[in-house]
Amino acid sequence: MARSLDTRLIHQPDSVPGSRPFGSVTPPIFQTSTFTFDTAEQGRARFAGEESGYIYSRLGNPTTRLLEAAIADLEGAEEGLAFGSGMAAISAVLIGLVESGDHILASRGLYGCTFGLLEMLQSKFHVSFSLADLGDEAAVREAIRPNTKVVYVETPVNPTMELVDLEACARVAHEFGAKLVVDNTFATPVLQRPIELGADFVVHSATKYLGGHGDVILGLAVGPKDLMDEIHMHTQKDIGGIAAPFDAWLVLRGMKTLSLRMDRHVENALEIASRLARHPVVESVYYPGLAGYKQRDLYLRQMSGGGGVIGFIVKGGLSAGMNMMNRLELCERAVSLGETHTLVEHPASMTHTVVPPEVRQAMGIDDGLIRLSTGLEDVDDIWNDLNQALCSVDGM
Ligand SMILES: *Cc1c(COP(=O)(O)O)cnc(C)c1O
Repeated sequence: MARSLDTRLIHQPDSVPGSRPFGSVTPPIFQTSTFTFDTAEQGRARFAGEESGYIYSRLGNPTTRLLEAAIADLEGAEEGLAFGSGMAAISAVLIGLVESGDHILASRGLYGCTFGLLEMLQSKFHVSFSLADLGDEAAVREAIRPNTKVVYVETPVNPTMELVDLEACARVAHEFGAKLVVDNTFATPVLQRPIELGADFVVHSATKYLGGHGDVILGLAVGPKDLMDEIHMHTQKDIGGIAAPFDAWLVLRGMKTLSLRMDRHVENALEIASRLARHPVVESVYYPGLAGYKQRDLYLRQMSGGGGVIGFIVKGGLSAGMNMMNRLELCERAVSLGETHTLVEHPASMTHTVVPPEVRQAMGIDDGLIRLSTGLEDVDDIWNDLNQALCSVDGM
């Protein structure tokens, strides 16, 4: 019988025979770099692909394999791969899909390093890119080009929390023979499942909600088996950005509580965003779950919760925002997101410095914008800290 996502997060697919020795409920960590062959012939057969089995951990490892099968299952994809970081996953998928002369169409807000990667692909490998607001089908049609091979989107967009219309992107991309790649880091499969909406690939920084405890850097990608096999054989194996077995194990462990944690992240974020929106020194708040959110219809169509990240601007802009950040006592001043602790950062001077100021403006990243990743603490404790910091902002 089909099992719900909540159950599948805990009863992860038993995809690797022998990965639970002695009847262990939790699989051990296969912390080994290489695997012995019983005979020289067996070694030859494994290299020839005539016999399945492990060879060397850069080519595959049982612990990592369990995680790859788990994320493919959760996203509803045929195949998954684990990488040493979110950026290793994103770069492997993009390098696997494009050639010199191709074009990548991306959402107009992107994780800073993803923007940096697109610039590098453009300047060194002649793969051009353009950014566009992809909030509806007309906008996607307007922006796509005959040589577009990949439509690459984040939704919600980091850190403006705008949404991209995934069904429209999939429809138009496929008409043009392009693949839709979605960075689902902010929503996780608990709140949004892009493959069900037509996406071809989903990538994750599992460093964030999937790991969930702020103790690991890891990336994941899922997609169709034939193309994922190619990405494995060429990009992942030879460029080598694989996930370590221990890190894969930490993410498998974190994912068991993903659904519970997302419920709390969403509940806390909605409450904090609502209180921020009513605060006299706050100029604007960006959070998809808010009642007055500008893309409310799209939000209700493709997400089942707004996630844990909030963008907001303090009256008085940049200097007022920096002052406010310096007065925080419970919330941590740190980049990253999606973990137990509430984290606060300033995109224009931290995560998005690689994006030139004029592109940042076009992305809607105001210099005064602050990004808050709501943690799992008591919501009143988070609010009391934010409120005392807001109330003591100079001049208020
Ligand atoms: C953090 C992040 C990344 C990069 O992931 P790493 O694990 O840090 O390499 C990519 N996309 C989004 C949306 C992120 O938040």
